[in-house]
Amino acid sequence: MTELPYRYEAPVSQTLFDRASLVTPGGVNSPVRAFRAVGGTPRFMVSGSGPYLTDADGREYVDLVCSWGPMILGHSHPEVIAAVQEAVARGTSFGTPGEGEVALAEEIVARIEPVEQVRLVSSGTEATMSAIRLARGFTGRAKVVKFAGCYHGHVDALLAAAGSGVATFGLPDTPGVTGAQAGDTIVLPYNDLEAVREAFAAHPGEIACVITEASPGNMGVVPPLDGFNAGLKELCAANGALYISDEVMTGFRTSKAGWFGVDGVRPDLMTFGKVMGGGFPAAAFGGRADVMAHLAPAGPVYQAGTLSGNPIATAAGLAQLRLLDDAAYAKVDAVSAEIRGLVSEALAKEGVAHTVQAASNMFSVFFTDRPVRNYEDAKQQEAFRFTAFFHSLLSQGVYLPPSAFESWFVSTAHDTQAVERIAAALPAAARAASEATA
Ligand code: PLP
Repeated sequence: MTELPYRYEAPVSQTLFDRASLVTPGGVNSPVRAFRAVGGTPRFMVSGSGPYLTDADGREYVDLVCSWGPMILGHSHPEVIAAVQEAVARGTSFGTPGEGEVALAEEIVARIEPVEQVRLVSSGTEATMSAIRLARGFTGRAKVVKFAGCYHGHVDALLAAAGSGVATFGLPDTPGVTGAQAGDTIVLPYNDLEAVREAFAAHPGEIACVITEASPGNMGVVPPLDGFNAGLKELCAANGALYISDEVMTGFRTSKAGWFGVDGVRPDLMTFGKVMGGGFPAAAFGGRADVMAHLAPAGPVYQAGTLSGNPIATAAGLAQLRLLDDAAYAKVDAVSAEIRGLVSEALAKEGVAHTVQAASNMFSVFFTDRPVRNYEDAKQQEAFRFTAFFHSLLSQGVYLPPSAFESWFVSTAHDTQAVERIAAALPAAARAASEATA
């Protein structure tokens, strides 16, 4: 790895990581947290406040991950914390219906017009898994179309992202997913409507649904080309398949109504998570009432959860959503644009080839000067430059996602002081990126 010119140790985090590695595979409970893509010691965080995180070594970072999206109001927002404290004082789980989950469902339905009914679950993975099952149950068809580079959680059938080209049958990307589980998944290149058209032609009456990230953030930020989502919707409608828009990442983040609020394309089903849980495990799927009516106990498609609609999670989510008005989104969008500008300026000054791509306030930096339209493009970037850039920023107290293939996230709490800290760290990081070697 590139030599870094600054003191760069995290002894307490390292000790915790060593302890964790003895009792947890790879030392983490979600793989990207292990820093494998960038190397070094994962920082164990002990607290968060506004735009800052503090690690176990007592170092403070400007947080550009925001828990991978949820913390759109920053950490420890007083009104969210108060709602949680109020809820927790009344008990933590009842296993019965409660008013909080009704209120959260009403808030989602009120914000997102295509969602007529919604079911609450506990993770984005559960949401997409259940939406796929419902689409299969509703249509009586087996096949699912997904796009390479789109991540929909660790659902067996959706971990097939291997292969590219037209109508590639999904090969499992991970041991443990059988050919049978992935065999009904058709993986296509993103932003390629012709490939979708060909898949429908090759499999008449067999495709239950097309699932896509509303605007992908899991291969870095790669927004849909003009007309792509509308084309998907049209092709699905013409072929009797459901169009599922995965808004786990974009929902309630890219606008009040998520990416639907940006492109207005009406999905049959949608999935949500992250922001709607206010930092707690809450997620949802919803959409057309006639489709949702097929879900148990109203209909025959089974789906359930011991902690679904958990009162603490719904209280946190509701408090967060109620604070997310037009002014809040304007603020997040503005600070995102400012940081994008600063990053681009610093990299340009050092002559580093880069492309900053954004979807509202979500953004990422690709180390290539070519636009990135799909996963193949994303993989062409000089990711080794990201590694140097990442470590330089980390050592200067700026926390980026530890991978070149992730979105960066900001919040309403990212104020002038936080932006100034980022600005001060960027010149050295850009230099490190320019000097990096593969
Ligand atoms: N869908 C998308 C678009 C996501 O970005 C993610 C997680 O990052 C998921 C689904 C899975 O959500 P979870 O990690 O809550 O299971």
